[in-house]
Parts: sequence; structure tokens; C-alpha cells
Amino acid sequence: MRHEVEVAGTKLVLVQGDITQQDVEAIVNAANPDLTPGGGVSGAIHRAGGPAVTEAAAQIRRERGPLPTGDAVITPGGKLPARWVIHTVGPVWRGGTHGEPELLARAYRSCLKLARTRGIRSLAFPSISTGVYGYPVAEAARVALQTVRAYLVAHPGAFGEVRFVLFSPRDFQTYAAVV
Ligand code: ADP
Repeated sequence: MRHEVEVAGTKLVLVQGDITQQDVEAIVNAANPDLTPGGGVSGAIHRAGGPAVTEAAAQIRRERGPLPTGDAVITPGGKLPARWVIHTVGPVWRGGTHGEPELLARAYRSCLKLARTRGIRSLAFPSISTGVYGYPVAEAARVALQTVRAYLVAHPGAFGEVRFVLFSPRDFQTYAAVV
């Protein structure tokens, strides 16, 4: 399953699949504030990337303390096909009235900004916050796609491709209905 549109000269691509297998310069991790492997997409990324990812993340945690929600940091990709992993922390869903949409948008923007300032031209996102953090997928998809679109329009030519990698066919359909 694949869906592609163009936004201000950048390919915006939706695929169903596993983010650890993507051939992009950087993949995004839906991390926890302590930057530990944990479960979900984070566990998968740390497992596939190996100790180079986990140790670099632990070093950042020691130096900077817990990562605030909406911020992003970067580590090498270790054994992943992607050269870099950008770790961000999405909001935990608490009913939608605790600033969740703005915090989720900020998480996407922080990743895009970090990638752009590093000269990274292709980037893959998972569906941040919609697993353990409980954000409803349709609402998260609207925020994610709106935020990425607005960023690409504001920074034309910064990226060749921004990809969303949806783990389940159902999530893919939800994102595809919104894009
Ligand atoms: P959060 O804590 O931000 O909710 P999760 O890892 O629990 O993060 O879930 C985020 C999304 O990542 C979910 O949609 C989940 O199905 C998905 N996911 C889990 N493993 C992978 C993977 N290997 N590739 C892409 N997405 C994944």
C-alpha cells in the first residue's frame, strides 16, 4: 500500500510497513522522555539499530535529562538502513483538552527542523502518539499531515521526500483518507 502527493516540490508519501526497514536518511522514533528502548516502535528501532542507537540515546539523557514533550534529538542509526534516528516525544492523550494537538504538531515540527538544519533530505515518520500514548488515529493523522504540509510549504525544496510509515493497514487507510 502506497500513496503519494506532491507538496511544494517535496514528495509526501504514505506507505504501510515497518519503519526500521526504510531507505531514507533519517527515521523518526516515537520515544519516551528517558530515551530508553521501551516497546512499540521505539523498541523496534533500538533493536534494529543496536547499541549505537541505545548508547547514544542514553548519553543524551544523561547530559540533558528527560526530553520534554514536543522536543527532538538526533542519534546515529547504527545498523539501520537509515543513517540517523530523530527521537521525539509525542503527547499522551488525556481527552484532547490538555494541549495535545499543539504538542503533537510541535513534535512533528521539531523533527522537521532538526532534519532540515542537518541537511537531511529524506525523512520517515511513524504515527507518533497513537500507540501506547492513546491519541486517536484519525485526529492524529489530521494534525500530522497538516503540520508536515505547512512545514513543506514554508520551506520549499528543503526535503526531497517526507514519508509516513503506517504499521497497520487500518492506520494506512486512515492517513490516506486525510492526506
Ligand atoms: P507512542 O508511545 O508514541 O504511542 P507507540 O510505539 O506505542 O508510540 O506507537 C506509535 C505507532 O507506531 C503505532 O501506530 C504503532 O502501531 C506503530 N509501530 C509500532 N512498531 C512499528 C514499526 N516497526 N514501524 C512503524 N510503526 C510502528
